[in-house]
Amino acid sequence: MRWSTYFLPTLKEVPVEAQIPSHRLMLRAGMICLSSSGIYTWLPFGLRVLKNIETIVREEQERAGAQEVLMPTIQSADLWRESGRYDDYGKEMLRIRDRHEREMLYGPTNEELITDVFRRFVKTYRDLPKNLYQIQWKFRDEIRPRFGIMRGREFLMKDNYSFDIDKEGAYNSYRKMFEAYLRTFARLGVVAIPVKADSGAIGGDMSQEFHVLAETGESKVFYDVAFEELRHKDLASLDIEKLRNLYAAAEEKHDPQTCPVAPENLKEARGIEVGHIFYFGTKYSEPMKATVTGEDGQLIPVEMGSYGIGVSRLVAAIIEASHDAAGIIWPESVAPFCIGLINLKVGNPDTDKASETLYDALQKENVEVLYDDRDLRAGSKFADMDLIGLPWQIVVGGRSLSMNKIEVKCRKTGLREDLSINEVIKKFTKSTISDGKCV
Ligand code: ATP
Ligand code: MG
Repeated sequence: MRWSTYFLPTLKEVPVEAQIPSHRLMLRAGMICLSSSGIYTWLPFGLRVLKNIETIVREEQERAGAQEVLMPTIQSADLWRESGRYDDYGKEMLRIRDRHEREMLYGPTNEELITDVFRRFVKTYRDLPKNLYQIQWKFRDEIRPRFGIMRGREFLMKDNYSFDIDKEGAYNSYRKMFEAYLRTFARLGVVAIPVKADSGAIGGDMSQEFHVLAETGESKVFYDVAFEELRHKDLASLDIEKLRNLYAAAEEKHDPQTCPVAPENLKEARGIEVGHIFYFGTKYSEPMKATVTGEDGQLIPVEMGSYGIGVSRLVAAIIEASHDAAGIIWPESVAPFCIGLINLKVGNPDTDKASETLYDALQKENVEVLYDDRDLRAGSKFADMDLIGLPWQIVVGGRSLSMNKIEVKCRKTGLREDLSINEVIKKFTKSTISDGKCV
């Protein structure tokens, strides 16, 4: 992508309305644009990140055996009356009337709708277990939307729902999702710590939240100091077995049944809730009559769980966990482009030629490059490139070009190296690249 033609409106000024780094940086890096309170347009640069997160979430859902569906955003109030939640849900639910005066609502979550889909088709234990997921926009009329898309009113959520014949099966589905979440967050390049959760409005008897630790987080969490170790690790290369053991050990120690008081090795911190998993048994299947015939021919209400990931909130959470004074530092797995290529002297035949050669060669190898071909001062280009946080910067036209060298800078470490054009191409192609992403 050539920056000169790209819709990427960066801001020099710090927007006064934004109170936390991710909100400031998302506005300054031209990722989102406020439409009305808590409701945003995703601009091209922001949308690329959102889509990358979606892809990783989707791949891990599929790996765990969940199957994708797409439910409507608008639902009928009648379904929510069946479960008894229509009156309970309160003002966060956006209630709508259609032209026939039928009561509708914009879904804040989808337990009722999926239970309805399930009961229409699944009639016997032989068809279980089932696990269905979607990635769909939700609406909650939050009393205080704030921090940009962190606490929006319209937001993108991955939600899935498991259906099992008995408790044991349901626990198994829950464990599978727990593990899928570990993998998902590790691949996204964030440490998300599972903590026991209050089951809240959804209800039920087993529930955990996943929190990204950040000073700006809205929740107070207690976590095992063992997780500190993870914060300094390269998560993408982390061994999943090790991760699983660490979480398992921590969980065992802090089961509220056996350990009601916070022990010494618990640390208090602020966290951003990026995921939440619930087991709630027959809370919906019973009132909504989602039953199947069991082995002995009896009608049994299915055992259910639901599992959410805040896909749009994750964009902000990742930035909270990964930025510096100059701007965002994208983990490679979600970065909107892998490389920012800066031509420092647009119009100079030597730098133009070197830049175009690199741009073409990398494009050909499916490496995602944002080529800054704008005719601007070097200072502005460097500042913009640091602000938008692409993992790698290639700088053409600095002092090194006279020695036939090009500077490559890693945004995260700040380390620089001078390479020839061929070495640069080699560094970012084939051996180090898979699916168009640096690995
Ligand atoms: P919170 O406590 O932050 O209000 P919640 O517990 O009400 O969230 P869940 O019902 O558990 O939210 O929804 C699943 C996930 O959706 C949350 O873990 C969070 O990541 C995301 N989410 C919930 N509300 C919002 C919101 N207003 N804006 C952005 N993401 C949200
Ligand atoms: Mg929650």
